[in-house]
Amino acid sequence: MTTITLVQGDITRQSADAIVNAANSSLLGGGGVDGAIHRRGGPAILQECRALRASRYGKGLPTGQAVATTAGELDARWVIHTVGPRFTHEEDRSELLASCYRESLRVADELGARTVAFPAVSAGIYGWPMEDAARIAVETVRGTDTAVEEVRFVLFDERAYEAFARHAG
Ligand code: ADP
Repeated sequence: MTTITLVQGDITRQSADAIVNAANSSLLGGGGVDGAIHRRGGPAILQECRALRASRYGKGLPTGQAVATTAGELDARWVIHTVGPRFTHEEDRSELLASCYRESLRVADELGARTVAFPAVSAGIYGWPMEDAARIAVETVRGTDTAVEEVRFVLFDERAYEAFARHAG
């Protein structure tokens, strides 16, 4: 049974087995959560990301997939990097956003992580409307069979927190 908890704050300050990064497919850093994780986690994370680019993910990590690295100096054992879809009105990419949560939990299970902290994937620079991002996140986690005991959504601001609270409540 997975418990969903909500926290308003900075995901890089969380203590959890795994912290999920809303990465981009280059895995080489970016803005938002990604920038914050690399800044606070230190160079060890980027070093493993570069190694992944040089081996398994020469063309980058595809949208909707997830891969783990060390968490460097963060208070976690792993960072699970997942690439959310950019929001567009031309095409429904909800399935790819759901896949980010499913695949991150699959990787968490492989690692043996019991507590996993997620940001609101795609709801920042990638433009996903917060209400819909929250619905997809909560519904997908609820519908995923996983040994993870706690999924903690860490929402940066009150608007995000309230959107998630409406769906998790
Ligand atoms: P994406 O490119 O997938 O949209 P972003 O990092 O731009 O990813 O944003 C995803 C969500 O994470 C947004 O709601 C943003 O406000 C939030 N966010 C940004 N920095 C942090 C942080 N340090 N901790 C938690 N959430 C954050």
